[in-house]
Amino acid sequence: MDVKRKTELRQPAALEALLAEVRACRACAQHLPLGPRPVVRADAAARILIVGQAPGTRVHETGIPWNDASGERLRQWLGVDDATFCDASQFAIIPMGLCYPGRGKSGDNPPRPECAPLWMDRLLAQLPSIALTLLVGQYAQRHFLGARRKPTLTETVRAWRDYAPAFIPLPHPSPRNQPWFRQHPWFEAEVLPMLRERVARILPHANASS
Ligand code: SF4
Repeated sequence: MDVKRKTELRQPAALEALLAEVRACRACAQHLPLGPRPVVRADAAARILIVGQAPGTRVHETGIPWNDASGERLRQWLGVDDATFCDASQFAIIPMGLCYPGRGKSGDNPPRPECAPLWMDRLLAQLPSIALTLLVGQYAQRHFLGARRKPTLTETVRAWRDYAPAFIPLPHPSPRNQPWFRQHPWFEAEVLPMLRERVARILPHANASS
């Protein structure tokens, strides 16, 4: 067996081992009101990476990423159906915090700060086929864009051309953001068609949402 072939065989096993390690993580268990339940989806063949914030209670209960109203809207934005979205060989899903972080006065708490430094780079190292990373919300944008971010999320999203082709910054698709969607019609008119076109180009065999 040649070296290249050996590497190809080794890689999924390394990812599986890493995912098992991630799923056993209890690093910040004392801060998690519902306890650790890391929700992550990854396959070495994945082409698009979605980096969101952290699971909500419904995602925590089911263990299925974006299995909520925010996910419904995200799939519409991407122009893909549920089966395509759930196919780990097409979409990898790694939030900035892998476990439900609890709730504060104004909604869910931010992702646990321990999480991304522990796991993000190690997971990314096992995803060699990613052609596009979607940065959903301010935490993902801060982590991946750093000083390249604009002063506000709105300005960062509007400046999407500055981050192409590797990244597309997006607002969170939560129903709580309805006012933002209404106040920024350029997002639907300009950003979403570009997003769907990029996704369709990278995943030419994906099934479109109805
Ligand atoms: S949030 Fe991240 S660091 Fe904390 S227990 Fe879950 S996987 Fe581990």
